[in-house]
Amino acid sequence: MNHISSIADIKKIMSENNLVFHKGLGQNFLFDEHYLNAIVESGDITKEDVVIEIGPGLGVMTTRLAEKAKKVIAIEIDNNIVPVLKNITAPFGNVEIICADIMKTDVNSLIADEEHIKVVANLPYYITTPIIMKLLEEKINAECIVVMIQKEVAERLVAKAGSKDYGAITLAIDYYTDSKIMFNVPAGAFVPAPKVESAVVKMDIRHLPAVKVNDVSFMFSIIKAAFGQRRKTFVNAVNSYLKIDKATIIEALITCGYDERVRGEVLSLQDFAKLSDFLQK
Ligand code: SAM
Repeated sequence: MNHISSIADIKKIMSENNLVFHKGLGQNFLFDEHYLNAIVESGDITKEDVVIEIGPGLGVMTTRLAEKAKKVIAIEIDNNIVPVLKNITAPFGNVEIICADIMKTDVNSLIADEEHIKVVANLPYYITTPIIMKLLEEKINAECIVVMIQKEVAERLVAKAGSKDYGAITLAIDYYTDSKIMFNVPAGAFVPAPKVESAVVKMDIRHLPAVKVNDVSFMFSIIKAAFGQRRKTFVNAVNSYLKIDKATIIEALITCGYDERVRGEVLSLQDFAKLSDFLQK
C-alpha cells in the first residue's frame, strides 16, 4: 500500500486540501523515508502491538506503523487535517483516529482493553516534555515510548550526573524508564525544516521504578529544589525552596556520605532517594 515519501507528496496533499502548516502546532512533517523507517524499526513493532501515535499529521508515519502493528491509535489536535488523515489511513483498516489534544486525553481509557502497547511519535516540539511526563506520570500501560524530539531536549533526558544537561527531567526519566538516544535527525529531513536538530529517544518503561523511596512526590520536590537554583549548594537550595532547616539538611548529607557543600547536579537518583527518606523523617 502507498506511503507518503517525499516533500512533493506532502505539498500536493496540503494544497489539494487547502491545508497550511501550523507553526504553532509544531507542524514539521518528516518526509525522509530513511528516518521514517528507522523510527518505526526502533519500536520493534510486531502484529501483537497496539501503537499510540501522538500528532500523526498527514500520516507519514501512521501508515508505516499500521503495516507492522495490530492497530494504531492516532491522536491529532488539528481538525482540518483529520479528514485527510482518515482518507490516507483508511486502506490499512487498523487505524483509529482521535481528534483531540493529547494533554486533555485520558490515554489509559483509550487502551483499557488493549495489551502490548507502544508509543511511537514525532512529537510537536512546543510541548515535548509535558507530553512525555504526562505519559509517565499517568503510568500508561506501555512497554516503551519512542519519540522524535529536539536534540537538546533528548540530551537532557539521557544526561549523566554532573554534566551541564543533567537536571530534574533526567532524574524523572531515569525513575520511570531506561532510556537511550537511538539516532539524530537533521532539520532537512522535515518540511518545513525546523530551526533545531532532532533526535529519536527510546524509553523502555521499567516494571518497577529505578529506586525505592518512601514518598516519591517528596523526592521530586527535593529534586526540583536542587535544580531550581543550580548554582546553590544542595543545602541552600533545599533550605530556601522547602524551608527545611540547614542543620537537618547537613545532617542528611553527612549521614548519607556526602560533603555539605555538594550541589544537586552531581547527585544520582539513588542519592536523592536516600536523602529524601532521611529528610522525610
Ligand atoms: N507525525 C507527523 C510526522 O512525523 O511528520 C507530524 C509530526 S508534527 C512534528 C507534530 C504533529 O502534532 C502535528 O500534526 C500537530 O498538528 C500535532 N499536534 C500538535 N499539538 C498537539 C496536541 N496537543 N495533541 C495532539 N496532536 C498535536
